[in-house]
Amino acid sequence: MFIMSEDSQRTQGRDAQSSNIMAGKAVADSVRTTLGPRGMDKMLVSSGGDVVITNDGATILEEMDIEHPAAQMIVEVAETQEDEVGDGTTTAAVVTGTLLEEAEDLLEQDVHPTTIVEGYHEASRIALEAVDDEVLGEDVDDEVLGQVAESSMTGKGTGGLTADVLAETVVDAIRHVDGDDGVVRENVNVHTEVGASSSATELIEGIIVDEEPAHSEMPVSVEDADVAIVDVELGVRTGDVDAEYSIESIDQLNAALDAEESELAGYAETVADSGVDVVFTTEDVDDRVASALANEGVLAFENVSSSDARKIASATGAARVGDLDDLDADAFGHADHVHTDTYAGEDLAFVEGGAAAETVTVFVRGGTEHVVDELERAIGDALDVVATALESGEVVPGAGATEIAIADRIRSEAAGIEGRKQLAVTAFADAIDIVPRTLAANTGQDPIDVLVDLRAEHESSGRAGLVTDGEDVSIADPVEYGIVDPADVKREAVESATEAATMITRIDDVISAE
Ligand code: ADP
Ligand code: MG
Repeated sequence: MFIMSEDSQRTQGRDAQSSNIMAGKAVADSVRTTLGPRGMDKMLVSSGGDVVITNDGATILEEMDIEHPAAQMIVEVAETQEDEVGDGTTTAAVVTGTLLEEAEDLLEQDVHPTTIVEGYHEASRIALEAVDDEVLGEDVDDEVLGQVAESSMTGKGTGGLTADVLAETVVDAIRHVDGDDGVVRENVNVHTEVGASSSATELIEGIIVDEEPAHSEMPVSVEDADVAIVDVELGVRTGDVDAEYSIESIDQLNAALDAEESELAGYAETVADSGVDVVFTTEDVDDRVASALANEGVLAFENVSSSDARKIASATGAARVGDLDDLDADAFGHADHVHTDTYAGEDLAFVEGGAAAETVTVFVRGGTEHVVDELERAIGDALDVVATALESGEVVPGAGATEIAIADRIRSEAAGIEGRKQLAVTAFADAIDIVPRTLAANTGQDPIDVLVDLRAEHESSGRAGLVTDGEDVSIADPVEYGIVDPADVKREAVESATEAATMITRIDDVISAE
């Protein structure tokens, strides 16, 4: 009896497990060489020829266009990691792949998938306890936050020279949006502009929008500005004119033109009389109106995108005005300084010191499009980890030290676990070792030797990482070098890797409809 269509494909039992595990592992392997400060970058070329050069695990996996369903789950691990904590995506993917590899070995030894799953869950619980124990006692102050930012950015094409400057900018940005209700991460914008060195990256206390003044004679800088957002066209609506007038004489034509002129003059007068200093309109502004406004010293922007209008409204507190009659002080927002400037041929408007919300923008500069793009991702990650660290107030040693501590703890507790489950718990510890092993491999060291040395040092001093400091790579206490990661990044990586690996291990039947 057939219960499925003839076109469906079905793989069962060990074949299904093996093929899923292989696919998951292959994906995880693909990002391995990018891990850590000496990780390499990848160049991803889309079918349309677009090029992305990146070191970011989540970006690589996303751009790879993976189809295999089990492999797709690794991509989801990286995505979850990115969404939840903003960093640690490569770590999470690599650990998942190694958990799968270990699972494959256990299956070979006839350990039942259910036993593997139970063992992995048990080990993951122990791992989370170990992370709790690794949390550093010191306060998460600006210095520590700067270290968190810098650890997350090293190896990300930021160029070693600027990482500390960028870290400071990132911490500044997050501090600005840290209020009574915690960090409002959405209030930190990142705006990129090609055409200077990355060290020119700076923090703007406000927002930047891609808009240019409606008229060249308008002021380029207004201090202490009343700001309005107008959703009205400041021009003669073409539709109206064509429909209403049928011109039969010169007099009529003049009358029509006069009417038009006075309508336009009326707009300019209404706006100028309202006392507003800066107007953002989401519609057109007629050149004659723009010129009149320029004469009155009003700075106006036309065809402002609705997303920019929203940003301006939330920063300055301006209400959206849909009828010029409503344009008065009640509707105005306020900003300390509105100014415009041209960068690499692009006109930008800066709205700084908005009265309504503490919004800041990291104005990212860099030599080329690719540099700026990668910098934007690195800064995005750094903003996320600093926010994560500040919110939870918990950081742990980086450079593989926390992973060494996790594996050590799992191995010592495994001794007390009965039966074959113990094999799975120990296998989990072996999988966690992939982080220090990969950091070693990526710095050109022998992973086995490094692992042995790290364990010995952990045993004697309680903390050991493979620290990269400039040209030097050594086994040392990462905290002394300021290499720390948010505890939540480690927790999320353990949890999401366990979830994905156990889910894939449990599958023994793959049915695909054609
Ligand atoms: P992920 O996508 O997992 O964040 P990264 O390439 O950002 O991958 O590498 C993160 C790892 O690199 C973390 O384990 C972190 O502690 C470690 N790390 C960061 N800076 C250093 C350093 N200077 N020396 C050694 N390890 C470092
Ligand atoms: Mg990182």
